[in-house]
Amino acid sequence: MNYTIKQIADITNAQIIGDEDLIIKNIAFDSRIIYSTKNTAFIAINTHKNSGEKFIESAIDRGINVIISEHHYSQFENITWVIVENSVDFLQNLAKYHFENSHLKSVGITGSNGKTILKEWLYQCIWNEFSTVKSPKSFNSQIGLPLSLLQINDSHEIGIFEVGVSKPNEMEKLANIFHPKIGLLTHIGTAHLANFESEEELIDQKVKLFKDSEVIIFNGDNLLVDKKIRKLYSSKKLISYGLKENNQVHFKNNISKDENVVVKYFDEEISFPVQQKDEATLTNALALITILKELNIENHKIVEKINTLKAVEMRLEAIEGIKNNIIINDSFNLDLDSLKTALQFLNEYNKPKKSLVLTDIVGVNSNSKELYEEVSELVNEQKFDSVFLIGKEISSFSELFKSKTFTFIDTKELIDSKHITELENQLILLKGARKFEIEKLKDILELRKHDTVLEINLNAILHNINYHKSLLKPTTKMMAMVKANSYGLGSYEISEFLQHHHIDYLGVAFADEGVELRKKGITTPIIVMNPEQHSYETIIEYNLEPEIYSFRVLELFYEAVQKSGYDKKYPIHIKLETGMHRLGFKGFELESLSETLANKNVKVQSIFSHLSSADMPNEKEFTLNQLETFDKNSGYLIEKLGYTPIRHILNSSGITSYTNYQYDMVRIGIGMLGESPNSEIQKQLRSVVSFKTVISQISKVENGESIGYSRKYKTDHITKIATIPVGYADGIPRLIGNQVGNVGINKTLAPIVGSICMDMMMINVDNVPNVKEGDTVTIFNSKPSLKEFADYCNTITYEVLTSISPRVKRIYIKD
Ligand SMILES: *Cc1c(COP(=O)(O)O)cnc(C)c1O
Repeated sequence: MNYTIKQIADITNAQIIGDEDLIIKNIAFDSRIIYSTKNTAFIAINTHKNSGEKFIESAIDRGINVIISEHHYSQFENITWVIVENSVDFLQNLAKYHFENSHLKSVGITGSNGKTILKEWLYQCIWNEFSTVKSPKSFNSQIGLPLSLLQINDSHEIGIFEVGVSKPNEMEKLANIFHPKIGLLTHIGTAHLANFESEEELIDQKVKLFKDSEVIIFNGDNLLVDKKIRKLYSSKKLISYGLKENNQVHFKNNISKDENVVVKYFDEEISFPVQQKDEATLTNALALITILKELNIENHKIVEKINTLKAVEMRLEAIEGIKNNIIINDSFNLDLDSLKTALQFLNEYNKPKKSLVLTDIVGVNSNSKELYEEVSELVNEQKFDSVFLIGKEISSFSELFKSKTFTFIDTKELIDSKHITELENQLILLKGARKFEIEKLKDILELRKHDTVLEINLNAILHNINYHKSLLKPTTKMMAMVKANSYGLGSYEISEFLQHHHIDYLGVAFADEGVELRKKGITTPIIVMNPEQHSYETIIEYNLEPEIYSFRVLELFYEAVQKSGYDKKYPIHIKLETGMHRLGFKGFELESLSETLANKNVKVQSIFSHLSSADMPNEKEFTLNQLETFDKNSGYLIEKLGYTPIRHILNSSGITSYTNYQYDMVRIGIGMLGESPNSEIQKQLRSVVSFKTVISQISKVENGESIGYSRKYKTDHITKIATIPVGYADGIPRLIGNQVGNVGINKTLAPIVGSICMDMMMINVDNVPNVKEGDTVTIFNSKPSLKEFADYCNTITYEVLTSISPRVKRIYIKD
C-alpha cells in the first residue's frame, strides 16, 4: 500500500490529528515485531480480549510517529494520530478499498486444514514466475486477512491469501473485503466444528468466500462439499480434486506401491516421484497441481517445482552456537518477504549485538538496484554489528549497507576468512538462497553436534496457552509454571518466550531457578514455591516472591526482609492447605495468621492452594471439597486482611475441568506443553516436544544370535537391527528395553530389543519400510506420542520430560 494520511482518513472516515501529508506504506500491529519504522503506522487493535493501546508507548519508543487508535493520548509529542471509531472495522474497510483497487489475480484459500502449507507451497512454486504477495505466516483472521491484503502493491501480479473462520458469521465479513478470482477449498475437518451447528453449516460458511470467484477448486472427497458447491455455483468453472476417482483431478496408479505417482488431470497425465505418501501430503499435492495448471504453468515445470518442494522446511530454527552466540538459521530460501519475517524473528531475542549473513537474491526479474536498495534499508534499520554479504550481485551494492560490511564471492570464502568464527555473544542470522549452501555455516557455528535432540516448538506452546485462555474470562491472569527447568525443556528459553507474550507470572520451585532467570533479563514477577531458609536473602536481592506456607517460614523470611533494609511492603504469597497435605496453612491456623500478618510490613500478593486430583474424574467430589475449603478459608483471610489479594487454585487440568473456579489467576504447566488427560481437550492442543535421534548403524543379524548386554534378546530369523545413539544416560529408562517400548521410524513403530545401554540401544527394524542409516528416529512426539512413551515407562508425562538428561541438546523452533 502507499497512501497519505489524508487518503487513509477519507477512505475510512477517520479523524486526523497531525500531519495529513505523511505517506504510509506499512501498518504494524505488534509493537514487538516492528522491523521498520519508515512510512509505518502502528495500529492499536482493540478486541474483546485485549487492547493494543497499552503498546502505543513502546511503538513510539521504537521510533513510530503515526498511531492509529480509537483514543488519542496527548502526552506523546510529535505524533500524528488517525483516530478511528473501531480499530478492526478500520482495518477491514481500508483493506477492502485497497484490494478492490488492486489489479492482481487473487487466490483465496480456505478450509479446515492445509491452508498455510498450500499457500507456502504455491508461493514457492510461483514466486520466480510472477511477482507474488502472500499472507505472512497464517494470517487469516478478521485482523490477519486485512493486514495481509494491505501488503499488495502495484507491482504484484498474483496474491495468495488464506482465509480462516472459527465461528459462524465470520466469513460474511471476510468475503465482503476479499473476493478471490480463484477459490480453493481444502480439506474440511473437525477444527472449529464445535462452534458450528453441523458440518453442513461449516461448509456453507466457507463456500461464501467464493461468491465472486471465477474458478473454484475444491477437495471433492467430501461428498457434502461436492454436492453443495455444484448446486450453489453451477455457473462457475468448478474443479474437484482428491484421492477418490470421481474427482476430476486424482491419482491414477496405486500410490502406496509405486515409486512414481501419476496424476490424472482431466485427460492429461502428470507423473513424478514422491517421498512422503501420507494422505494429507498427497491431497495437498493434487490441489497444488490444479492451481498451477490454472495459472498456466507447463507440466514439465510443475514436475520440476514439485520436486524441489520436498526439501523445504518451513521454519526458522534458533540454535545455541559456539562462543555464546545464538544462530538463527533460515537458509532455505530468500526473498524480500522471508527476509522481513526473519528480521521480525530477531527482535524477539535480546542479545546486545547481532550480525547478518546475507546472499544474493536469486531468480527475481526485478531491477536489482531497486531490490538491493530495499534490502539495505530493511537491514540498516536493524543496526547490525557486522553484515557479511555473499555473492557477486549483492556485494556490488555493499556501499548501501551502513554496518561494518564484508563481501565474499561464495560461502567457502567467508568460512576461510575466519571472520564468522570470531563472533562472540551475538545473535547471528543466516539468510540465504539455497544455492549458496549457507547451512554449512550453521554446521560450523553450532555448539554441540549431536544427532540426538529435544526439539521444543514455541509456537505450539503459545497455541496451547491461548487455547486454555480461550476457556477463561479475559481478565483472569495466568501464571506459567517453569519449575524444574520448565519441566526439563529449558527454563530461560521458555520464560523469555512467555514474557514476550505477556504472561502475568512465572512459577519456579527454588530460589536459584528464579535468580538464573533474573540474571538473564527476565523481569516478569516470579513466585518461588519452595523458599529454602538459606535463600531468603537471595530472594529479596533478586526481587522474587516467596510462597509462605507456615508460621516458621513467615517469621524467618520476615526477619530476612528487615535485615535487608527493604522498606516497602514485601510481596508474599500465602499457601493454604486444602487436602493435598503437602504445604500450607490449615483452617485452624488462619485466625492467628491474620493477626501475625497484620503486624508485619508485608503485602499478601496472592492466596492460593493446589488441587491434588483435578485430572481424575472419579475424584470430583474430593476436588469440589478442596475448592469449597479454599473458597471458605481464602474468603475468611481476605476479610481479616482488609484488602483483596489475587486468588488462584487451578492447575492445567483444573482449568479445563473446573473452569468456574478460576478466581483471578490460574497456573498452567503441563497443559502448555500440549498434554491433557481429557481426550477431547487433547485434540485441541498441539504437541510441543519432539525427542529424536538418527540411526547410527543397521546390521543384518543371523538367526540365533543375541543382541546387547546379557544376551536378553535372541533372533529367531535373519533380523535387521538398527543401533541408535541414546541410552539410559539420556533419560530413557532401562525398563522399557526388551520389547517393552517402541520408537518411531518412517512413521512405523519399531520395538526396542535387548537391554538399553548407557548411550545406545538397539531396535528391530524388520517392519520399517525403506529404512537406512541416518534416518530420523522419533523417541516421542507423534508416533509414539509423549503419552504413549510415558505409558511404556509406566509413569506420567511429567516424569518423562524432567528425566531427559541435560546432555541432550534442546532446540527451540517456531513455525
Ligand atoms: C507444578 C504446579 C502447577 C502446574 O501443574 P500442571 O499439572 O502441570 O498444570 C500448578 N501449581 C503448582 C503449585 C505447581 O507446583
